[in-house]
Amino acid sequence: MKFERMFSPGKIGNMAVKNRLIVPPMLTEYAAEDGKLTERYIRYYEEKAKGGWGLIICEDNSVDPHGGGFKNVAGLWDDAFMAMHEELTDRVHKYGAKIAVQVYHAGRESDSSITGVKPVAPSAIPDPTERETPHELTINEIKVLTEEFAQAIYRAKNAGYDAAELHGAHGYLINQFVSPFSNKRTDEYGGNIMNRLRFPLEIITRSQELAGDDFPIIYRISADEMVEGGLTIEDTKVIAQMLEEAGIAALHVSAGVYKSGAIVSAPSAAKTAPFSDYALQIRKLLKIPVFTVDKIVYPYVAESLLKEGKADFIAMGRASIADPELPNKVREGRMEEILPCIGCWQGCQGKIAEQEPVSCLVNPRTGKENTHTVIKADEKKKIMVIGGGPAGMEAAIVAAKRGHDVTIYDKADRLGGQWLLAAVPPGKEMLNSFTVWQKGELARNGVRIELNCEVTPALVDLEHPDEIIYAAGATPVVPPIPGADGYNVCTANDILSGKRDLTGDAVVIGGGLVGAETAEHIAVHNHMVTIVEMLPEIAAEMPDAPKVFLMESLERNKVAMYTNTKVLKITEKGVTVETADGTKDIPAGMVVMAIGSRPNKSLADALSEKYRVTIVGDADKVGKALDGIMNAYDTALAI
Ligand code: SF4
Repeated sequence: MKFERMFSPGKIGNMAVKNRLIVPPMLTEYAAEDGKLTERYIRYYEEKAKGGWGLIICEDNSVDPHGGGFKNVAGLWDDAFMAMHEELTDRVHKYGAKIAVQVYHAGRESDSSITGVKPVAPSAIPDPTERETPHELTINEIKVLTEEFAQAIYRAKNAGYDAAELHGAHGYLINQFVSPFSNKRTDEYGGNIMNRLRFPLEIITRSQELAGDDFPIIYRISADEMVEGGLTIEDTKVIAQMLEEAGIAALHVSAGVYKSGAIVSAPSAAKTAPFSDYALQIRKLLKIPVFTVDKIVYPYVAESLLKEGKADFIAMGRASIADPELPNKVREGRMEEILPCIGCWQGCQGKIAEQEPVSCLVNPRTGKENTHTVIKADEKKKIMVIGGGPAGMEAAIVAAKRGHDVTIYDKADRLGGQWLLAAVPPGKEMLNSFTVWQKGELARNGVRIELNCEVTPALVDLEHPDEIIYAAGATPVVPPIPGADGYNVCTANDILSGKRDLTGDAVVIGGGLVGAETAEHIAVHNHMVTIVEMLPEIAAEMPDAPKVFLMESLERNKVAMYTNTKVLKITEKGVTVETADGTKDIPAGMVVMAIGSRPNKSLADALSEKYRVTIVGDADKVGKALDGIMNAYDTALAI
C-alpha cells in the first residue's frame, strides 16, 4: 500500500494540514491541578508533532474553573495560563504540525469531589454513572457559560492554536443540551431540536465575533449516544447540517456517552473503526471535512477508510499514544517498527478511570518524554536476561539500545512466555502484535537469543555477566483441593497452550481475568462452561471496557457463573461447591484451574549471592503487564 491518501495535504477551513492523520483529544491528567499546563504535558504533544502527525487536537481544556470532570484538567479560562499555551503551540509548530485545542465543560459528568461545587446541567437529572443531581442552569448562567466558551476559543487563537474544537460529544455539557436524554427544559433551550441546539450555536456565533469567522472551529459529536431516549444517527444527520450552516469548519464524528462508554474507546474485543459508518453517512450530507475516530490502529485501515470515502481525516488516538512516531514510520516505510496499540486499556483509559496520569503498556515512555530517554550507557556491560516474556524482552531491547551486550534466554522454544497464552482467548489476538514488535526490536538491536535453554548456575558462571535481569515469570498455583491431582484436572495454561484437548463440559475454578477469559475461550469452542469464583465479582481486576465486552460474551455464550462460591472437592464427575444456598454438584468432563500464579524466583535468589541480579515482571510480583513492562524498562535504563 502506498498511503497516498494518508499523506495528501488537506484543509480544515483555512487551515492547511500536511497529511490526513490527526491526534484526537484524549485526557492525559498531565496538567497541574490548577489548570496550568506542565512541561510534561507540553513534551507529550511535542513528541507527536515530531512524529509527523498533521493535526494535534489537545485534550479537553475546561472553559471554567469548575468545568472539569477530572482532577488534572487543563484550563483556558484565565489569561494567566497563556504563556504555557504559547510555549506549546510554538514548540509544536516547529515540526510543521498544526495544533488545535478542545474546549469543554463536563456539566453533569463531573462531581463536587473534583470541582468543589455542585455540577451543572440543562436539567436537574443526574448522569446515570454519576452520583450527584446537577443544578439546572438558569438562562443567565447559560449566557455566562456561552461567553466563557467563546472567550476560551478567543484565548486559543491568541495563544497560537490553529483551530479550536468544541466538545459536543460523550455526554459533556454541550451534548447534554443537544440531547433529549439529558435536556428536559421547556424554555428556549429545550424541547425541539432548534432550541436544544441553541447553546452550541450561540457559542459558535459569539466565538466567531471574538476570534473572527476564519478561525476554524471543529465540532466533536456523538453520532449515536447508544442510550434509550438519546440521540441517534438520524438526529445527528440533521444536527450536522445545522452546525455546518452555523459555520463550523469540520465535524469530528465519535459516538456514545458515559453510560454507553465501553465503546467510546473501544477495547481489543471491539470491531475495527466502529464509528466509521456514522462518519460516512454524515459526510454524504456535508461539504466540510469529516473525521472518523476510535480503534483505528493500523495505517492500512486508515488508508482504506480514506479510500472508501468514509472520512476526510483519520483520528488515531491510542495508536498515537503507543507510537507517537507512527506517521514518520509509515512515510519512511518502517512499518515493522511501528509500536502497536493492543487495545488493553491498562495504561490509558484504565489510568484515567483511577484518576491517574495516562501511561501505556507497550510504550513505557508515554508521559515520561521529559525524563526518560534511552541514551548510551557510560560503560558497556555484558547482560544476561533470563526469561523471554514481555518484561524480559523489554529489558533486553532497552539494554541493547543503550549499547550493552545482551543475550536473552528462555527455556521454551519461542519468545513471549505466558503473554502468548493471554492472546489466545477471543478478541485478544492484538496482543500478538506486541510480541511481533518486541521480537523485531530484539533483532534490530542485535540481542542474541537462546531458546530451549534452561539457565543454570553453571551456565551463568560460564557466561559471567556483569548484570542479570531476571524475568522468569510465574508458575500457576494448584490449590490443595481434594481431587486436584485427578486426570480430569488441568490448568488454564494447559488449555490455552493446546496441551490439553477440550473434552466435554468444563468447570473453571477461579473467575479472575485468566479464568474468565479461559472460560470464554472454551465456550466459543462449543462446550458448556461454569465459572466458580470465591470473590463476589468475576474478572474484578479488569479495566471497565474490556470487562463489559468480556461479560457480554460470557452471557452470550451461556457461561454459568457462581460467585461467593467455594470448591469443596473435585471428582471424576465434576466438582462439589459450597454456595450461599448450600452444597451443589456441578457435572463436568474437565476441571480447569485458574487460581493465580506465584513468582518464579528461586534461581534469582541463588544467583544473587554472586551476581548483581534485578528481578522484573511477574518474577518479581505477579500483577499487571503494564507494571511489569514499566519496571523492566526502568531497570534497563538504570544499568
Ligand atoms: Fe493502547 Fe493499551 Fe497503550 Fe492504551 S495502554 S494506548 S490501549 S496499548
